Amino acid sequence: MSELSSEKRTTDLRERIRGLMPQVRADLYALTRIPSVSLDAFDPAHVEASAEATAALLRAEGLEVEIVREGGRPAVIGRRPGPPGSRTVMLYAHHDVQPPGDEALWDSPPFEPTERAGRLYGRGAADDKAGVMAHVAALRAHGDALPVGVTVFVEGEEEVGSDSLPTILERHGEKLRADAIVLADSGNWDVGEPALTTTLRGNVRAVITASTLDHGVHSGMFGGVVPDALMVLVRLLAALHDDEGNLAVPGLREGVAADLDYDEARLRRESGLLDGVEPVGSGSLLTRMWTKPSLTTIGIDAPSVATSSNTLLPTAAAKVSMRIAPDEDDLAAFERLREHVLAHVPWGARVEVELDERGAGFAADAEGPVYDEARAAFHDAWGVAPVDIGVGGSIPFVAAFAERFPDAAILVTGVEDPDTRAHGANESLHLAEFERVCLAEALLLARLGALPA
Ligand SMILES: [Zn+2]
Repeated sequence: MSELSSEKRTTDLRERIRGLMPQVRADLYALTRIPSVSLDAFDPAHVEASAEATAALLRAEGLEVEIVREGGRPAVIGRRPGPPGSRTVMLYAHHDVQPPGDEALWDSPPFEPTERAGRLYGRGAADDKAGVMAHVAALRAHGDALPVGVTVFVEGEEEVGSDSLPTILERHGEKLRADAIVLADSGNWDVGEPALTTTLRGNVRAVITASTLDHGVHSGMFGGVVPDALMVLVRLLAALHDDEGNLAVPGLREGVAADLDYDEARLRRESGLLDGVEPVGSGSLLTRMWTKPSLTTIGIDAPSVATSSNTLLPTAAAKVSMRIAPDEDDLAAFERLREHVLAHVPWGARVEVELDERGAGFAADAEGPVYDEARAAFHDAWGVAPVDIGVGGSIPFVAAFAERFPDAAILVTGVEDPDTRAHGANESLHLAEFERVCLAEALLLARLGALPA
């Protein structure tokens, strides 16, 4: 396509998206009003309702829609073929949401979408009902002239770990097969600064249990001779980091994050680090957060301070959550952790290290024609080129798609910005930014439709 017609296409789609936004926003409000929390403790009828609402939105765009259940919450699959010989693009989002948490912390009710100062507040207003609506907006922008085949897949249990996703991919995978996959559940680098998320860390959770006695005994009588379980456990946990605070488990992979501007002041502001407390680890801050392994003790089974007594504890346990480099093998990483812990056991104590949960990370092959078109579409929508970012956390479904569709280009996009507070109180969506997200996706479909096979 000539440069001139490409510019005209951008202008046309920009105007069309602008005209569509009032209805797109109205539909987003309606979706956000449905309290579709997928946790077991919440009424599953609301997740059913959000699946139905999502299905209706897709049907209205001419997609053939079905709601599938494979033992978990309902997912919505909608398909519409493109012109003969055209590429197929899969568009992913999720219609379930996190619980609202303490409603007293919200400035407006979580399930009553409310606009303030250019942002839309509500649980799911960003994560990820805006992702659903970005896909719908892109479809609407193309109307009857959809340039590619499209499969929309909207999951209903992302916030509880996508347990039935592997089964859905196994049973319905053929319907979901695509040349490019757009996973709209991440975010941009900042307002006005678009990004593609090209790496995610994996996660390995393990439970370390230490035992030294077959029953608790008086700490005054035997203390000083008989080691207690907590004494052992504390030493094992301390052996997991070096003096700088780097993870001390040897043999784990680590990568280098993209060179973006992120300073200690921003880290302090975003994390709430107390004055005088130093960051740990070595390497750039983003490398430490995105591409190096880290480990957090997330729980300890030991007597509480309130119920403590003068007893040598026979058994104590800790659960650790280890984030691993994007390209690390999760099972191999667990083995390294286990060996390291067992190599540091003092005084012949009995120690077990058990795998609790694991999930691989993701490192996109962020090159090739689909990525080129995505970068160009983002550039057209924002006026600046997107940056590659990482996410320190793990999104298990990304690895599941990468494994099931190894030949598809996977683009992780999204509507979030640094103030979104997904999962927190006062979650919100930047509305002007949301319009650019919708435009970028409409432009991407146009570009992929114009790309020679
Ligand atoms: Zn999400």
